[in-house]
Amino acid sequence: MADETIPSNFIRTIIEKHNENRRFDGRVHTRFPPEPNGYLHIGHAKSILLNYGLAQAYGGKFNLRFDDTNPLKEEQEYIDAIVEDVKWLGVDWEDRLFFASDYFQQLYDWAVQLIEKGKAYVDDLSADEIRQYRGTLTEPGRNSPYRDRSVPENLDLFARMKKGEFPDGSRVLRAKIDMASPNINLRDPVLYRILHAEHPRTGTEWCIYPMYDWAHGQSDSIEGVTHSICTLEFQDHRPLYDWFIEQLGIYAPQQIEFARGALNYTMTSKRKLLRLVKQGFVNGWDDPRLPTLRGLRRRGFTAAAIRAFWDAVGVAKVNSVIDWAMLEHFIRDDLNQTSPRAMAVLKPLKVLIENYPEGMVEEFELPNHPQKPEMGSRVVPFSREIYIEQTDFMEEPPRKFFRLGPGREVRLLGAYYVTCTDVVKDEAGHVVKLRCTYDPESRGGQSPDGRKVRGTIHWVSAQHALDAEIRLYDQLFLKENPEDVEEGQDFTSNINPNSLQIIKNAKVEPNLAGAKPGGRFQFMRQGYFNVDPVDATPGKLVFNRTIGLRDTWAKVKKK
Ligand code: ATP
Ligand code: MG
Repeated sequence: MADETIPSNFIRTIIEKHNENRRFDGRVHTRFPPEPNGYLHIGHAKSILLNYGLAQAYGGKFNLRFDDTNPLKEEQEYIDAIVEDVKWLGVDWEDRLFFASDYFQQLYDWAVQLIEKGKAYVDDLSADEIRQYRGTLTEPGRNSPYRDRSVPENLDLFARMKKGEFPDGSRVLRAKIDMASPNINLRDPVLYRILHAEHPRTGTEWCIYPMYDWAHGQSDSIEGVTHSICTLEFQDHRPLYDWFIEQLGIYAPQQIEFARGALNYTMTSKRKLLRLVKQGFVNGWDDPRLPTLRGLRRRGFTAAAIRAFWDAVGVAKVNSVIDWAMLEHFIRDDLNQTSPRAMAVLKPLKVLIENYPEGMVEEFELPNHPQKPEMGSRVVPFSREIYIEQTDFMEEPPRKFFRLGPGREVRLLGAYYVTCTDVVKDEAGHVVKLRCTYDPESRGGQSPDGRKVRGTIHWVSAQHALDAEIRLYDQLFLKENPEDVEEGQDFTSNINPNSLQIIKNAKVEPNLAGAKPGGRFQFMRQGYFNVDPVDATPGKLVFNRTIGLRDTWAKVKKK
């Protein structure tokens, strides 16, 4: 039975029709088939969650299968990382972790079957020649001179390819379909190439490797996948996959294509992400500015928010670009519910409260979450010297500036009303310190006599504050579409030189002393932060700003 809590979409409509006409005996079995040649990104999350979500909605099954057919680009490091990232998304493949390489023998046997049927041949053309013979979208291809080799000769040559008798690139096995087909995928596609390369799982057992197209559909068939859900670019491959399945006379899954998830200000291409990492534009695959799942995780994004985001986006048949701000909206929404509040001063300005008794310390109890009493409270110390944010003071404040200025009064959040009485500057004329007085009657930040202050600012007690490093992130690209470049340039010319700002000497409230790696907080008035899971140590606090407080997307939506 369908789970009615999940919104319908065109894929569900197809599945429900199949369930009605018993095409798959009511079974629903999906999979996520990554090639282990890079790290997963936010776009992959869409596919993972879609496939897993469908299996769950219909009480079906979900497989994680590595399409590991190209040993030149694939590595164990990627396999491990993908497993970890899929798990992090909250997706469970139970005991169904598979590899296309587990099917290498079967795929080989099937290739032999095709040869025996006269539907495949060994070609001696070089890769370049094959390309030239293939034709174009407007011109048909030409038959290879080797196309009419006899079945016994093809069987012999293919067996010898497998034995390792020939060098890389000297021969391939091709399907014999139609060099004049309007669909280029059907112009005798290559099924096997010779690669004397070590495979992360099969080692040196094989020196011929199946092409992705030869492995993909049959792997789905072997696993009993009912709905092979993939992105739009595979639409033109579907007739080929169907042809293979039909020639082999094996179980046929139904392929369904949907639009890739793409977001502005970033890119979801493994190849380009690899470039950003390899050429040092970012600091590794888990750089919080990357849209990789490990980058987003390190930055403090939650799996729950990513799930909610892709649910809200839904699935479509037409490619489109989603606003990054929409993803941020869902992250903010989640973090707002779950993050305890704390006070942190990013750019400290010292304030001396002259009429506050020297040596006195008071403790104020502040709620961990203003709307959630069940999240409890914490005690924050207050003393004669505090830090406030440099940006919360202006010597000559404009009319709408409600924070501190000479002679002005503000509320220190949860503590006292203070009035600025004097500004101390260094020789260069920079403000280095403020002198204030406080109103002892305003304890807890309550008005003593009904007089109002327009501004409330955060603070930390100077003698109790902890030092912290804080990393602020901005978009990695300056343009919505990073590919929008001048002639002769590429996307790296659009990289934002200020995408990372490191603040070394921030001051945070002492309660953050025991903050665990990955721990999340809302720093009041500054945004949502997490303890950097990589660089923070028991002796050194390092925070990432996951996201600021201002929700630009919700505003756009309301208009
Ligand atoms: P490659 O160019 O290396 O094939 P890829 O992004 O397609 O890159 P795969 O490992 O083949 O990477 O992707 C695994 C699955 O994820 C595929 O089924 C693919 O269609 C899907 N996928 C990849 N990118 C996106 C995206 N942006 N949105 C939705 N699904 C995606
Ligand atoms: Mg792919």
